Amino acid sequence: MIVKAPFLVPKNAAAITIWPFIFTDRDRLPRHLIEHEKVHLRQQVKYLFLGFALLYFCSKRWRYRFELEAYRVSIRYGETLDSAAEYLSGPLYGNLVTKSQARQDLAMRG
Ligand SMILES: [Zn+2]
Repeated sequence: MIVKAPFLVPKNAAAITIWPFIFTDRDRLPRHLIEHEKVHLRQQVKYLFLGFALLYFCSKRWRYRFELEAYRVSIRYGETLDSAAEYLSGPLYGNLVTKSQARQDLAMRG
């Protein structure tokens, strides 16, 4: 369920997913972003939410793995490879990899 709640959305992000909700500061989200956040909903169920939260916030490697999986889906739903690589390598996630590394990882089958 998508809920408009600007106070919950981190700066420079358009949405945050906390199972079972996708919180956003926008009136409408593009399809690729909804599908991206739905990947995080599935990840949170798979890792029983608390496991997801611990891995996501305590391990850069796991955060990258979760986001890589979500951005591969974003691309399938219309986000460009360049835009996904820009976000994935950017400050929103703590500059986990270079943009060219992100681009390479996104292009590989996951
Ligand atoms: Zn994400």
